[in-house]
Amino acid sequence: MITVYNPANGTVVGQAPELSLDEVKAAIDRACAAFPTWSRRLAKERGDLLRAWFDLVKTDKRIFAEIMVQENGKCLSEALGEIDYGLGFIGWYAEEAKRVYGDTIPTQATGAAVMVVKEPVGPTAAITPWNFPFMMICRKIATALAAGCTMIIKPSEETPLTAYKLLEYARRAGIPEGVFEMVTGNPKEIGELFTGDTRIRKISFTGSTAVGKLLASASGATLTKMTLELGGNAPFIVFDDAEFDEALAGIVAAKLRNSGQVCISPNRIYVQDGVYDRFVAALAERVAKLEVGDGMREDFVVGPLVNQTGFDKVAALVDDAREHGARLVLGGKQHALGGLFYEPTILADIGDDARMAQNEIFGPVFAVYRFQTEEEVVARANNTEYGLVAYAYTRALGRAFRLSRDIEAGMVILNSGSVGTASVPFGGVKQSGYGREGSYYGIEEYVEVKYVLMAGLNR
Ligand code: ADP
Repeated sequence: MITVYNPANGTVVGQAPELSLDEVKAAIDRACAAFPTWSRRLAKERGDLLRAWFDLVKTDKRIFAEIMVQENGKCLSEALGEIDYGLGFIGWYAEEAKRVYGDTIPTQATGAAVMVVKEPVGPTAAITPWNFPFMMICRKIATALAAGCTMIIKPSEETPLTAYKLLEYARRAGIPEGVFEMVTGNPKEIGELFTGDTRIRKISFTGSTAVGKLLASASGATLTKMTLELGGNAPFIVFDDAEFDEALAGIVAAKLRNSGQVCISPNRIYVQDGVYDRFVAALAERVAKLEVGDGMREDFVVGPLVNQTGFDKVAALVDDAREHGARLVLGGKQHALGGLFYEPTILADIGDDARMAQNEIFGPVFAVYRFQTEEEVVARANNTEYGLVAYAYTRALGRAFRLSRDIEAGMVILNSGSVGTASVPFGGVKQSGYGREGSYYGIEEYVEVKYVLMAGLNR
């Protein structure tokens, strides 16, 4: 069994099965066996099953939220927010199942007709991370099932309890065995089974760029389609003309969500010279008031980091930035609560040579850089191998447009710190991966285009 620990206090929360490779193979076999029937069911029936699952989970939101607080460390209000976000995908794709439209194309020959239909790619697999244990699963499985695919999910071994709870509710809603399978065990070996099996036609992965590349290269041998949501290094740009209070609220919410352990978390905060000192001072005042602690309570609280590796990485990046001349404004060390709690931290006047300028911090650290001109900040924002999301606050329409065009990212968020809903295409460019999840773009990743020519129609 895999033992799951509470990052807030180190106690055991529960256990999940450590499956043998034969058991994982059996799950793949079930997903393959279920595909012909599932893919031929009416789209409306598939949508209705997703909707039934949505309703059951919604009724028991609190149960899911409490599991998430214990195995991930996020606070209750955030866990409940994540459930709404995740359910949004199930609701969205329950509807979208009915709208996988094809095409007809005027023919170039007499007595012929051309139609283009979209068919589910086949059995699929997904590997998900621990930072959004609920939403990540919903986003992948809802899309796959709506398109008519079956799916085997390997959730993170840090947070399998939320995942198995979701599976339990899916079964209660009538989503059959084979259509939705779940496996936990040795991630590397399970990944190799997924990528090496030509019956699995698509893999969706969210996690680190390093693991994403391993899976992508292994999938090259089997030509398995991939969707990869990998690391980020999001710039968050505040211009002199920004709505000051909105930018401040935006950065605090975006940065501290899940204690900063989010791939779209603002990693580099660029503030223009004219407003810089005032912004850093106001940020410090606001962040100093926030509470840190165990998330099992109603109001917002900054939680612990997920494990020791994560904690050590954050501490090392902060130390490195200070060695490179950054000014410590707030925090900068383990919180008085000890364990995996790290103080909300603000570093100012960071040089671009600090390691955190190129590496995901994944912790509650506000890294604030100073800039002078738009041209300069766009170049610096793009000076990263990643390209997931970029945020900017400005009231100038022309500048907002130029930023949307010039920043290399899959998502550009102007005058807001909030990115996701089910209705928009989430995904990145460069080393942040490829493919999109959410919206009608998301379902395209799970269908193949089939062109059908019917000739001889005038006989
Ligand atoms: P993180 O640093 O966020 O944990 P990972 O990429 O290590 O990111 O983990 C994301 C998911 O990938 C988890 O479910 C994890 O178990 C899985 N994973 C880790 N290593 C491998 C691997 N070699 N092959 C397949 N999956 C893996």
